[in-house]
Amino acid sequence: MHIDILTLFPDMLEQPLQTSILKRAQEQKVFSYDLINFREYTDNKHQKVDDTPYGGGAGMVLSAQPIFDAVEAVQAHRQSKPRVVLLCPQGERYTQKKAEELSKEEHLIFLCGHYEGFDERVREHLVTDEISIGDYVLTGGELGALVIVDSVVRLLPDALGNKESAKEDSFSTGLLEHPHYTKPAHFRGMDVPEVLLSGNHQHIADWRRKQSLKRTAERRPDLLRDIELTTEEKAFIKPYKKL
Ligand code: SAM
Repeated sequence: MHIDILTLFPDMLEQPLQTSILKRAQEQKVFSYDLINFREYTDNKHQKVDDTPYGGGAGMVLSAQPIFDAVEAVQAHRQSKPRVVLLCPQGERYTQKKAEELSKEEHLIFLCGHYEGFDERVREHLVTDEISIGDYVLTGGELGALVIVDSVVRLLPDALGNKESAKEDSFSTGLLEHPHYTKPAHFRGMDVPEVLLSGNHQHIADWRRKQSLKRTAERRPDLLRDIELTTEEKAFIKPYKKL
């Protein structure tokens, strides 16, 4: 996968993309990225990327010209028609399902807004997906782009080593994941559940499934709507579901 991130502030993205699993994934050629400052694509001599809003009001609006030209240059260079993702608080709310969908693509472009955001014609004519990372407003799209890139890259084949696994993560199975413990078995009077020390794989798997169901029922009962449960499992979660 190749990812192009169009931003006015590439420095905000560089360090996180060069750390830990994302760094290793690039070294192993799982993905590559370019940070593109769309200021370089302005057609005015002052490299101005924004202007006052038509109709008046506070704040500056990012002009359509540099972003159209930057996206078209990337498409021509890569000879591809990638998904163009606009970071936008008004977009669809980001989920693991969307991460899985995006992880199937070979090329993604992210557009990071700032100030009041982009001229509406960018949204109408250039963008294929508008994504919000939550119901709050950030100063810019860079942190949102990082959230999406991180969650997409870890789903790519070979991005995670043996020590990390995406298969059982919360949301991937449709449920929240079971709790984890590590050594020591006894710590300040707090003990690891006996079953995890038993070595009985079937009992451990059953315990984990039940913990997962219990957690989901207690914390995110809305997720259970999309899950097929056995009659026994339905009876098990009943006491944990908030009314
Ligand atoms: N005036 C816009 C509005 O009310 O919808 C908010 C603009 S915000 C200050 C500036 C930029 O930050 C946006 O263009 C977008 O790229 C990014 N941004 C802010 N909140 C976001 C969120 N929840 N999810 C994704 N991107 C966000």
